[in-house]
Amino acid sequence: MTDFDYCIIGGGVIGLACAYELSQHGSVLLLEKNAHFGAETSSRNSEVIHAGLYYTPGSLKERLCISGKQRLYQFCQEFDVPHQATGKLIVAAESGTEELQRLLNKGQRLGIPLQWLDQQQLRNIEPEVSAYAALFSPGTGIIDSHCYMERLAQQAEQRGALLLKHSQVLSASERDDGWQVAVSSADGTTHIHCSALINAAGLQAQTMARALGVEENQIPDLHLCRGHYFSYQGKSPFRHLIYPLPEKNLAGLGIHATLDLGGQVRFGPDTDYLPAASTLDYRVDPALAAVFASAIKRYFPGLKTQQLQPDYAGIRPKLHTKHETAADFIIHRPSDSPPAVHLFGMESPGLTASLAVGTFVTEMLQKKAQE
Ligand SMILES: Cc1cc2nc3c(=O)[nH]c(=O)nc-3n(C[C@H](O)[C@H](O)[C@H](O)COP(=O)(O)OP(=O)(O)OC[C@H]3O[C@@H](n4cnc5c(N)ncnc54)[C@H](O)[C@@H]3O)c2cc1C
Repeated sequence: MTDFDYCIIGGGVIGLACAYELSQHGSVLLLEKNAHFGAETSSRNSEVIHAGLYYTPGSLKERLCISGKQRLYQFCQEFDVPHQATGKLIVAAESGTEELQRLLNKGQRLGIPLQWLDQQQLRNIEPEVSAYAALFSPGTGIIDSHCYMERLAQQAEQRGALLLKHSQVLSASERDDGWQVAVSSADGTTHIHCSALINAAGLQAQTMARALGVEENQIPDLHLCRGHYFSYQGKSPFRHLIYPLPEKNLAGLGIHATLDLGGQVRFGPDTDYLPAASTLDYRVDPALAAVFASAIKRYFPGLKTQQLQPDYAGIRPKLHTKHETAADFIIHRPSDSPPAVHLFGMESPGLTASLAVGTFVTEMLQKKAQE
């Protein structure tokens, strides 16, 4: 006899979306080690609902971003999550027009609405932005990610899921009918039994996979890549999100300007690969303001460096180094253990894709169960 059909490790946006989806199909327990859900990467990002333009054709990132985006807008409407389809401008100097054209063609192939703007048209809608040409993506938006996670948790609980904070999974061992999971909480160490495990531990997914006995050759290397943000002091000079062309190998999307739902502008994130085995250090070095200013002034020449204030940082769980081609999400179901799914490399667009990831994991577990 098991206590739960599904046990989810990690209460970030991915674990919560899995809880929301899986609770339609069986009993769910979600275990989060922190005092709050989503206190790690899920609350340290740009809160942008991405259109899905940048990713390798046919990749999970592309497919789950595009389907997840539509589901996310519907979820926000149905459950009253503050969001706004602000639209985004990808801006380029004259030397970048070929890349803009490539993105326009790609958008057409994927059915992502995009509009080409010349210099004058861009100036008409964003007078402070300096660029030779731009692509306008009306489907890109912003979301209150904290409220989104609260609603996911509420809806999963309404469907019967049990979501526990202050509960750290230590290890799990295989049983004939599933898993025995060791959990540390204020009450000491307890053991629960479940049929299937979902490892949604974010930056700790690799560590957790090792603790669950996954073979080393099935665990991808983790490369921590910090992204800093600076807030802009003053009234927003923009009405849309402003993005330069993405960085080589999609290390990051370039230091862009996003708006929050209160209309304040923040700039970031940059890409700062951390040495192997670094601790998770979220401090923002004020000296980075000068580097930020020089990148931002390429498209916003009116910026004064002193208008930039250190804000916050997030850390991407990348599966590639800065010299390698951008890796895809890895959603892995080992064949030689009781049912388990491991989610590795859930960097951007994980927030946008979250509901689609939840469905993907559910289908993966159900398919295997029928085999
Ligand atoms: C700088 C930056 C900008 C981004 N911008 C965007 C964006 O604009 N749009 C977008 O779509 N995506 C964006 N992303 C990506 C998005 O934030 C992530 O894909 C998403 O938050 C990942 O969620 P997660 O649940 O996998 O990870 P997390 O939020 O890190 O959650 C994992 C959870 O597991 C818990 N955990 C770990 N180990 C254990 C254990 N042993 N027991 C119990 N609990 C455990 C942790 O405490 C944590 O709460 C960005 C990411 C970064 C870093």
